[in-house]
Amino acid sequence: MTNGRLISFLLGAILCTNGLFAAPFNPDDKKPGDDKKGKAAKQKEDTIAYNLPDPSTDADETPDTTLITFPSHDLYASWDVNTAHPYKFNEVFHEDSVVITLVNPGDNNFTLPYRGNLTSLFGWRKYRPHYGTDISLHTGDTVIAAFDGMVRLAKYYQGYGNCVIIRHNNGLETVYAHLSKITVESGQSVTSGQLIGLGGNTGHSYGSHLHFEIRYLGQALDTQDFIDYETGQLKTNYFTLRKTDVENKYDLRALHYRHRSDVGLNAKNGAKKGRSVYTVRKGDTLSSIARRNRTSVNALCKKNKLRPTSTLRIGQRLAL
Ligand SMILES: [Zn+2]
Repeated sequence: MTNGRLISFLLGAILCTNGLFAAPFNPDDKKPGDDKKGKAAKQKEDTIAYNLPDPSTDADETPDTTLITFPSHDLYASWDVNTAHPYKFNEVFHEDSVVITLVNPGDNNFTLPYRGNLTSLFGWRKYRPHYGTDISLHTGDTVIAAFDGMVRLAKYYQGYGNCVIIRHNNGLETVYAHLSKITVESGQSVTSGQLIGLGGNTGHSYGSHLHFEIRYLGQALDTQDFIDYETGQLKTNYFTLRKTDVENKYDLRALHYRHRSDVGLNAKNGAKKGRSVYTVRKGDTLSSIARRNRTSVNALCKKNKLRPTSTLRIGQRLAL
């Protein structure tokens, strides 16, 4: 291990222990702690961290952390080798928008981590958000880095399975999950197109595929907004991230709950004033009203002293 690598590894170990940075983990995956294999892997990782060469054997090598420059350190101000997503976008991003230069002059061009069919896109699945884009592959296929950068996390991580997260100079982080093998380590510099692991089916995965994410300050973005998976090229080199896009498009969990609230599905909204009375419109039937308001015909009848066969009139107000 080079001096620089050792120093960054040590600093990572220091920075990552701060519990304040811990944030809920939401890949497309199972809940943290579900996975004994993940726990075992974590213990193994800890052991590795403490098995570093003894710095005292090299008296000159006192880690001077002020000299370390992690990619986009000004933006993130932390380097956590143990937690996938310790950042809180909504607390730290105060701009209306930011223009992200995806490939800076002098950097290697973007490379698609794997060329294959897309099997699942960014969006809300039935019970959970899917923050990545899934690319079909065979176990053992080579997976490569999308941009130049430095490996931040490289280990078995909960539902992600074997996972590599790379921090880039452009401010983005890319996530490569469900790998069968990891061939890089935390603190290692990588260039676009460099091998980082082999595709697989580890973690919460059904069938071999690459779960690929792009995040900015922890906020997952839809990779299809700037990658053309047909050509393997970037759609633009200047991606404008707007706070409104995060609110309307990328923050899947918030969107999901907002939608549930709008249609009156969240438990606490059941008792809200204004939703407790329904005004009959043209074409309504007791069963359509019951269905739309998540109640039953029987309950409606009981509350409104109606019979299931009662005729409704337009404008009639029904208690829900
Ligand atoms: Zn996925």
